[in-house]
Amino acid sequence: MESYQKELNPNTRVLMGPGPSDAHPRVLKAMSTPLIGHLDPQFLEVMDDIKVMTQKTFQTKNHLTFVVSAPGSAGMETCLVNLLEPGDEALICVNGVFGNRMSDIVERCGAKLVRIDAPWGEAIHPDQVKEALKTCKPKIVAIVHAETSTGVLQPLEEISKLTHNAGALFVVDAVTSYCGTELKVDDWGIDAIYTGSQKCLSAPPGLSPVSFSERAVAALDNRKTKVQSWFLDLTMVKNYWAGAKRAYHHTGPVSAMFALREALRLVLEEGLENRFARHSATHELLKEGLEPLGFEFLVKEGYRLPMLNAVKLPEGLDDVATRSRLLNEYNIEVGGGLGDFAGKIWRIGLMGNSSTANHVNQLTGALKAII
Ligand SMILES: *Cc1c(COP(=O)(O)O)cnc(C)c1O
Repeated sequence: MESYQKELNPNTRVLMGPGPSDAHPRVLKAMSTPLIGHLDPQFLEVMDDIKVMTQKTFQTKNHLTFVVSAPGSAGMETCLVNLLEPGDEALICVNGVFGNRMSDIVERCGAKLVRIDAPWGEAIHPDQVKEALKTCKPKIVAIVHAETSTGVLQPLEEISKLTHNAGALFVVDAVTSYCGTELKVDDWGIDAIYTGSQKCLSAPPGLSPVSFSERAVAALDNRKTKVQSWFLDLTMVKNYWAGAKRAYHHTGPVSAMFALREALRLVLEEGLENRFARHSATHELLKEGLEPLGFEFLVKEGYRLPMLNAVKLPEGLDDVATRSRLLNEYNIEVGGGLGDFAGKIWRIGLMGNSSTANHVNQLTGALKAII
């Protein structure tokens, strides 16, 4: 029998990598709800529910808050292509893969890229931003809140103030931090933010909640050129999400949105503060379990992400062989290192529904047996 002739039946995995994370059964059940049309009044209600819950989880009152029908990278691109026009300057903070990706998009927008770099595994220091702002006049300053490639948590408030003092818009990648650690869009002065559905929200991959402040909307309204992407052009998408007429723009991913609605409900049922506390507690438990086995955290204390633990492998432990044993014998997925860290670190995700003592115990138990 050919492989394609067999019914789909992958193993049930324990997802402890950099995303996706395990989805709650209620989310999977919602996803199997029979389809309705994407302009059905009942689906528009689902979109409205999602918008309200997205505002609550972002801690924002921003009217232009919605979900891009594509993964986190499309949320990134939505923020950048809408706010930048050819010739604009953009200051991008880079300390890992995702700052690099933003820089790439900035250049594709025809904007002038100014980069600040910090070593991978460290946060960007506000003084670096202050220094850079002396010699450029950017329209936006963009930074990653939770750098999933290195496990660094980036403090945002000081850099937000510097950005606004320079008259620029503050753009934040919160794909991994969203729903896993404190994130206050309004209080922290964030003008444009994008996230992903599959990390600490524990919904299926493929959607990107985003939000734009009044100042960002004004910048959009003042554009002189058309947004180069048709699909991501907010001037049109916003009519589907928030317009009085709810005009057709594209066919909304109905099943994924059903799932997202349920995932957001679960977050609000738990409460944001409780959810953040749970992520911290599980991170501590993992640390207690891994350090005796010889793993060391890459990032300095105080800057560690609770949901993405970057750990250096103990001397003599083979990266690829051990990760394949974890997957094949224990059904546990953990992430490998990227770039310079390939083969040297693991990235252990404790995101959303995967952030439980049970997950930690399964991993540490398996590692004890292997080592
Ligand atoms: C995962 C991730 C992205 C990209 O999201 P995709 O859904 O994979 O496109 C962007 N930024 C950060 C920090 C991420 O962790």
